[in-house]
Amino acid sequence: MKKIISGLILVLVLSLTVTVFATSRKDEPCRSCNGRGWYKCTMCNGHGQRRCSFCGGEGYIFYRDGSKETCENCRGKGWFPCGSCDEGKVECYACYGTGVQRYVGQ
Ligand SMILES: [Zn+2]
Ligand SMILES: [Zn+2]
Ligand SMILES: [Zn+2]
Repeated sequence: MKKIISGLILVLVLSLTVTVFATSRKDEPCRSCNGRGWYKCTMCNGHGQRRCSFCGGEGYIFYRDGSKETCENCRGKGWFPCGSCDEGKVECYACYGTGVQRYVGQ
C-alpha cells in the first residue's frame, strides 16, 4: 500500500513540475507588435518608399514657361526607397522579429 501512495505522489509531483515548467516557458504574442514581429514603418507609412519632397513625387521639376526638367534629387522617379525599413516593415526590437515574447526565468 505504501508503495502505491508514494508512486501516486511521485506522479503528482511530476505532473506539477511539468505544468510549472510549461507555464514558465509559455510564449506569448509580443505586446509591442501584437505578435506580428514587425511594425509599419513610420518614415514611409509602410510603403517602403518615400516621396521625393524636391519634386513633390512628380519626378520632374516644372517651370513656368512650360518646360520641365528631370528631378535630380530622385532621378525622375519621384520617390526614394525608404532607408529605414524593409519593404515598409521594421523588425520589432522587443521580440527580434519573432512575434513572440519569451518569459525566461519567471
Ligand atoms: Zn520605411
Ligand atoms: Zn524628385
Ligand atoms: Zn514584437
